[in-house]
Amino acid sequence: MQRITKFLIAYLSFIVFIVSTNPNNQVVSKNNSSSIDSINETINEVIENKSSSDIKVDEPIIEEISLKKMNLLILSGHASLQKDPGAVSQGRYEYAYAKDLTQQLSNHLKTNYPHINVILEDAPYKAAEEALYIGKVQPDYVISIHFNAGGGTGFEIITPLKNEKLTFATEVVKVLRDYDIPIRPLSIYSRSTSTNRIERKVNQPLNGSDYYAVINKGASMGIISEILEIEFIDNAQAMQRYEQNKTKYVDAIAKSINKYYIEEYNKN
Ligand SMILES: [Zn+2]
Repeated sequence: MQRITKFLIAYLSFIVFIVSTNPNNQVVSKNNSSSIDSINETINEVIENKSSSDIKVDEPIIEEISLKKMNLLILSGHASLQKDPGAVSQGRYEYAYAKDLTQQLSNHLKTNYPHINVILEDAPYKAAEEALYIGKVQPDYVISIHFNAGGGTGFEIITPLKNEKLTFATEVVKVLRDYDIPIRPLSIYSRSTSTNRIERKVNQPLNGSDYYAVINKGASMGIISEILEIEFIDNAQAMQRYEQNKTKYVDAIAKSINKYYIEEYNKN
């Protein structure tokens, strides 16, 4: 254990040294410091979670600190122009925006968070059928990407009634706010079959059945499944701003998935 800890401390010191001596530090410091934070958090987790009996000193260190993979299903809301385009406004199709963001998020996760195993639908399902896909692949965590309609602007997230810690939802709203992305006044809510939107607070799980099939199916399997409504597709100005800030959305969602991984998945 001591050897591992020494190795990790040396490794972290090395990274800190590289960052602090980087001549372009001013320009890239935001990204660098956030990835250092995530490495720090992850390594701290490994140290905390591994008891000395878990570690066989004769094996290579890299295997000893390898992380348990989490299977993340990313559902791209709606299917296709013919099957189910979702909301449509002024030539903008919800299914196409969802697919584009899903792909970029998937690429970003594969590059930066290799302990998150991304699963995408092999053939996009209609929104009403997506719950079937959850049953088919049995993932550890689910997010479903959508774009809103009906007038307005900003991000919102719909979470299971029984979700207690709201780890991902709280983090994604916080990070997006830090990036000056507009957030809806009712930013984190649940919807049951007998109620409309209910604002959610941490450590206050609710009873009842979730209204949305994707969330309900996850809950029935003990999986947190959340719907992200990114922006309003019928608001041209908001969609233009979304396009300009897409990488911030990708970054915020990925970071928040990693936060869930560290705080909830990897502890189980
Ligand atoms: Zn939708």
